[in-house]
Amino acid sequence: MGIDGGAVLQRRCDRNRKRSKRRAIFCPEHGCLVHSVSQKYPLYAEFAEQLQDRGMGRRASLLVVATHGAVLLEGEWLEAFWCDDCNETRWYHVRRVGDRAYEAELAPVYLWEQATKVIHPRGNPSVSDFTRRQARMTNFNGVKDFRFM
Ligand SMILES: [Zn+2]
Repeated sequence: MGIDGGAVLQRRCDRNRKRSKRRAIFCPEHGCLVHSVSQKYPLYAEFAEQLQDRGMGRRASLLVVATHGAVLLEGEWLEAFWCDDCNETRWYHVRRVGDRAYEAELAPVYLWEQATKVIHPRGNPSVSDFTRRQARMTNFNGVKDFRFM
C-alpha cells in the first residue's frame, strides 16, 4: 500500500479523536482530520488496466470495458477537503479500505478534471450555480448498475 508518493494515513491527531465515529479522512501531509468542502464525485474505470489494478482478471476486465465502456469504481471517489494546517483546499482520491477506514491521496489533476469535467477545484466564479449544478449532474450518467467483486 502506498507509502510511495501518495501517503496512506493511519495516524491521527489527538484533538480529533473524539470524532472517530464519523467518516475520517486525513491530510497526507499532516495526518490531521480534513473537512469536506465538496460532494463526492464518483470515479469510473475506462481501461481494463484500471480494473486489473483492483483485482479483476485480465479477460474479465477486457470484457467489462468492451461491454460497458465505463464502470463505476465502488468505494472510490474524488472529494475536495480543507486542511486547517495546509490552510487550503485540495482534491483527494479517496478509497474505502474497511468498515470505517479510508485511504486518501492527493488526486492528480487529470483525475479531478475527468471526474468534475468543467468544474474548477476552487469554484469558478464565472459559472453560475445553476450551470454548475447541471454540470455536476452529467457526472452521474455513467454505468451505475454494474457491480464487480
Ligand atoms: Zn494538511
